[in-house]
Amino acid sequence: MRILFSLMSTFSILCTLAPAKAAAVPDYTQLFPQVYARQGPPLKRIALTFDDGPDGTYTPQILTILKREHIHATFFVLGTQILRYPNVLRQIHREGHALGNHSFDHANLVKLSTQGRAWEVTTTDREMRRLMGIHTTWVRAPYGSINAAVLQQLGQMGYHVVNWSVDSNDWRSLSAEQVEKNVLTEVRPGAIILQHCAGNPREILTGSVSALPTIIHTLRARGYTFVTVPELLSPDTRTVHAKHGK
Ligand SMILES: [Zn+2]
Repeated sequence: MRILFSLMSTFSILCTLAPAKAAAVPDYTQLFPQVYARQGPPLKRIALTFDDGPDGTYTPQILTILKREHIHATFFVLGTQILRYPNVLRQIHREGHALGNHSFDHANLVKLSTQGRAWEVTTTDREMRRLMGIHTTWVRAPYGSINAAVLQQLGQMGYHVVNWSVDSNDWRSLSAEQVEKNVLTEVRPGAIILQHCAGNPREILTGSVSALPTIIHTLRARGYTFVTVPELLSPDTRTVHAKHGK
């Protein structure tokens, strides 16, 4: 479904933008600095993020690797998946990782009404509270699909919206070598890396899981440390960010 949507959205973007190349995409990090981020300040810290879970196949494997490496990551979870795998959700939380809200059923928030968007986010939030008693203010929009209306609404609801600066493209069932290359060639200080910990049956994430130890060891050798998204984007680091003037 994601593949289909991706093709459709690429097609519609091409159709929309082709006649008017001058129509630049707004820089939402400048327009909504308190609400939206794609990366952290330019320090040698990186956030690993895993979307679309939890599941019973890949998520536990990823948790095992992260535990062995003593790394805390951030998991943007779906409402549909936390209802199916509540114990894996609890394990993520128990092992010290950060949790974010990835909507209820992977809806494209840009295409929904105000009420529909609120339902997607608050229903997942309610289930997380019910299952674990926690509330997260961190949201990742499915497909990274955002616009001013989405950011304004989620900001008013008290959420922070986080996309990514490095896309592993792992959901395309890539090999470990391809995932490693996609990540390691794009990483910069403050990067937020996108991987997945669940997907539809056509999205084989074996390569992505296999790539994870290499990604971690290589980035450590380059002097990076790993933090959660809340740590990466905390007000303290935003202050540092401002001092750097970027
Ligand atoms: Zn997703």
